[in-house]
Amino acid sequence: MSNTIVEQLKKHIADFEKSVEVEEVGTVIEVGDGIARMSGLNNCQAQEMLEFTGGIMGVALNLEEETVGAMILGEYKGIKEGDTVKRTGRILSVPVGEQMIGRVVNALGQEIDGKGEIKTKQFYPVEKIAPGVMKRHPVHEPVQTGIKSVDAMIPIGRGQRELIIGDRQTGKTAIAIDAIINQKGQNMKCVYVAVGQKESKVARIVAKLEETGAMEYTTVVVAGASDAASMSFIAPYAGVSIAEYFADKGEDVLVVYDDLTKQAWAYREISLLLRRPPGREAYPGDVFYLHSRLLERACKLSEEAGGGSITALPIIETQAGDLTAYIPTNVISITDGQIFLETDLFYKGIRPAIGIGLSVSRVGGAAQIKPMKKVAGKTKLDMAQFRELEAFAQFASDLDEDTRKQIERGYRITEIMKQPQYTPMAVENQVAVIYAVNNGVFDDVEVKDVSATEIKLIEFMNKSKRTLLDKLTAGEWDEKIEKELADACSEFKK
Ligand code: ATP
Ligand code: MG
Repeated sequence: MSNTIVEQLKKHIADFEKSVEVEEVGTVIEVGDGIARMSGLNNCQAQEMLEFTGGIMGVALNLEEETVGAMILGEYKGIKEGDTVKRTGRILSVPVGEQMIGRVVNALGQEIDGKGEIKTKQFYPVEKIAPGVMKRHPVHEPVQTGIKSVDAMIPIGRGQRELIIGDRQTGKTAIAIDAIINQKGQNMKCVYVAVGQKESKVARIVAKLEETGAMEYTTVVVAGASDAASMSFIAPYAGVSIAEYFADKGEDVLVVYDDLTKQAWAYREISLLLRRPPGREAYPGDVFYLHSRLLERACKLSEEAGGGSITALPIIETQAGDLTAYIPTNVISITDGQIFLETDLFYKGIRPAIGIGLSVSRVGGAAQIKPMKKVAGKTKLDMAQFRELEAFAQFASDLDEDTRKQIERGYRITEIMKQPQYTPMAVENQVAVIYAVNNGVFDDVEVKDVSATEIKLIEFMNKSKRTLLDKLTAGEWDEKIEKELADACSEFKK
């Protein structure tokens, strides 16, 4: 009898303890430059949100023996030494959901487009462990960027991570934005994360996305140049969390991080202020992990896991084309390939300025539609050879017939691969054009007339060969279709 009473009492006590909320409060001992150091937060978790006086939020980064170091989200001027700081028990998270589509938000997922509060039901933590091996499926469906040189030579698959890398002002952003614009009607959600860019630049990009109708499936996350470093650090993670909501529902998402160089700078700044030991180029030792844990979250999920995907296009800025600097090599090693943009080509007028030799897609080939794979299979090699041979072009009279032909063809392929901004091309048109140039349709066209002829070819194909183009769109390819395409080309030539 007495035993049961004791048992019951024990149970009551246990239940009682559970219902008590102990609020843990600490004291700010140092504050400045977007960081704060606090004492008294003994049970604080890594990445936990902290609340300062006046509702200012911070995130715990350094958990040390006596103190906790945190970065402050946003304005920190209201915080003074001796202020109290409260643990919230929550890990930093952002709102996610359908309502995020078409909106421009800051790194915390709060609206900054003046279109009213975003009411979502769910929050996702900004940091999440990437899906493991068993939850993944190899990349097998294409992302059509609408950019001829990318889709033909450096194809990207859904779930792939393809780095866009190059010096400043070489058209890095342009490639990413064109890829987003081309996702219209392709069953893709997009997230564009602008890190540390001038606000005016971002405003222009958003205006362009609105104008082209791309905002109907896109969320823009902005950590501006004038925002705190903490915002630039978080923004890419916030972006991928917003994307994960859709991927978890089995949808495909394209995420652009523009750019991760600035995220690394922000992280270096915060780390140095928190007195973490500086390593190579003064970055903290775990700067590799900063990017790897972000990019690992991009993947193609298996059928059992819903079959969704996150394709990542991180952007990195190089100095004087140096791919071997610390951050570029890190990110190259984490991604499945890179699109390398060269300043020389850009100023020669070859835009997009893709350096063929150093650009590669390690997995996207498996995702290309069959007609594209067939017609463009050798194009990358041809182009790379041509760029080598080009140097000899001035000795044209001494060259043998074959080499001369190869060079002439190379000029025409180069011309075909040029593409102005904001003019993505449907994949069936790309197939037709590339087939045509590879099969000599343009050989007797003057180089300067190539792009005009290309436009005529596309017009002709769409007007009188639409059924053939539809077959190409559907990914059909056999000898009969190839013959039809060849006939169409000779008909056009006449
Ligand atoms: P930053 O380093 O400043 O971020 P970036 O590498 O992202 O630059 P963009 O801003 O995309 O480069 O492009 C630089 C300039 O080149 C812009 O004025 C853009 O309009 C122009 N540009 C980019 N791509 C093309 C293209 N395919 N055809 C013509 N102009 C282009
Ligand atoms: Mg840019």
